[in-house]
Amino acid sequence: MAKGNRVSEKKTTEGKQHGGVFHLPKTLKQKIRECARGEKANSASKVFFLWACVTEKGLKQGVKKTKGKAKKLTKQEWLTVVDEAASLGANWFVLSFGAPLAECGDIWDVCKWAQTAHGMMVGLHVKGSHLTRRDLSYIKALDLRKTRILARKGALRRIKLTGDEKESLIVWTANPQAEGERPNCQGPSRMIFVNANGELYTCGLVEGKAEYRMGHVFDRKLGGIISDLDLPHHVDEEIHYVTPECDGCPALIANYFSENL
Ligand code: SF4
Repeated sequence: MAKGNRVSEKKTTEGKQHGGVFHLPKTLKQKIRECARGEKANSASKVFFLWACVTEKGLKQGVKKTKGKAKKLTKQEWLTVVDEAASLGANWFVLSFGAPLAECGDIWDVCKWAQTAHGMMVGLHVKGSHLTRRDLSYIKALDLRKTRILARKGALRRIKLTGDEKESLIVWTANPQAEGERPNCQGPSRMIFVNANGELYTCGLVEGKAEYRMGHVFDRKLGGIISDLDLPHHVDEEIHYVTPECDGCPALIANYFSENL
């Protein structure tokens, strides 16, 4: 004990006498910490995917809460979201439809904009069980080389396509990995997830969970949200399993279909 005290006294004395010697590792440690933070911030800012949910009340009509009042989320504002995501590096824009596609009139201009202005791939995740001829007419007006239709395995056969459509439309499964497994996803740190009300969550798996809410698209620029290390950019291990909420997740799908890009 006494010996230990002497050693510690000696260190203290030396530390005082040769502050530089003991200061150096501390500075190094600090630098390393700063670098680590920088790396983390950099990696958090590399976004590849924009994932948005669409319902009749979502992209079509929109809900923006200003001073307690619900206000319309306009097409122009969604275009801004796409622009911001693209400026952060997003090259995939996936829309999960909780409503018939043809009833979500505004989204088609947004999809076209994503493709023409930013060269983004557009994934149309059909959550319902079928596509109507009207839905298909909207889809076919997009750049089909940059369009993927995403549907659950069981639903794929319910999408009735003509011979020509089978040639030109590419349909991918929205749930490529079995439920209950650890998701083979690139993780939420590479993605911006916007629900139908414009609220940002870490990813679809945790939508609606307050501890994973990252704000609203109108709170501030997406870049600020993505690089804010105080916000959750991960999903807790305890709940990180594939569920139907992962359907259509671009961070997951990209790992299964990258060879088709
Ligand atoms: S929704 Fe599922 S697959 Fe996508 S990032 Fe979250 S946990 Fe991964």
